[in-house]
Amino acid sequence: MNIKIVDLDHRKGEPLPFRLTLDADELKRRHHEIRNLTPVEVSGEATKLGDLYYVNGNMKADVDYVCARCLRPFRQHTEVPFSETFASEESLLADEEDSDIIPLEGDEIELIPLLQEDFLLDIPAFPLCEDDCKGLCPTCGVNRNEQACGCKNERIDPRLAGLADFFKDGK
Ligand SMILES: [Zn+2]
Ligand SMILES: [Zn+2]
Repeated sequence: MNIKIVDLDHRKGEPLPFRLTLDADELKRRHHEIRNLTPVEVSGEATKLGDLYYVNGNMKADVDYVCARCLRPFRQHTEVPFSETFASEESLLADEEDSDIIPLEGDEIELIPLLQEDFLLDIPAFPLCEDDCKGLCPTCGVNRNEQACGCKNERIDPRLAGLADFFKDGK
């Protein structure tokens, strides 16, 4: 779905509301932590104020992940707000320092690629079922969120593990 610049010009500052849905399959293909997701419901509005065009709103979906620590599948409701500013190339030249402004190409704003990027940027690279997920025991493999085991797992900072070996060998 594209927004025509001329439509925004004609509205003289009055917001143009829009609704659309992002295809789930394509997003799933582009991020390997996404195991599944519902189509992403987008609602927002576009406005022209002065020389600038604003597009903002919110995206919603339920995303299925596998926890990176305990390997349990879980579903998370995700809401991603978005806010983008555009300007025609001519007016950008006058204000080069503001690098958050996206130059307009052609006479339309292409929403879908932009919203796909914003959505994917919000997907965690290391999804956790709970912020304090205890993960699996490295010794016996039980899920330590569900069950305590008697294993003594010394937590060694991986950067110091080599040093620990050094001291062990020295004995
Ligand atoms: Zn977990
Ligand atoms: Zn254990």
